[in-house]
Amino acid sequence: MGFKSRAKKKQKEASDAKGPSVKIKEEYSGEVRCDVADCGNWADKKIGGRKLAFDRAADIWGEDGLLGSSRRVTVCKSCYKEWKKAKKDDPNEWG
Ligand SMILES: [Zn+2]
Repeated sequence: MGFKSRAKKKQKEASDAKGPSVKIKEEYSGEVRCDVADCGNWADKKIGGRKLAFDRAADIWGEDGLLGSSRRVTVCKSCYKEWKKAKKDDPNEWG
């Protein structure tokens, strides 16, 4: 690996960056938003989103902390984790 080959590589990268496919990693754009009011993450099923019964979700975030008004809310992966963790302390949920 001499200087020349490295220079060549650099040149290639530079020209790649100029092309139309310059778009670097785009932010994931989903279809379903997490229903937890102060979250705002995507909650698509394919990225780990889950549906919870409203009442069960309200146990953790409270009715005011949820955006959905239907009987089911959709939460993102991290909110679901949070919910699951909180529910672990509730013996009724796992008995
Ligand atoms: Zn969330």
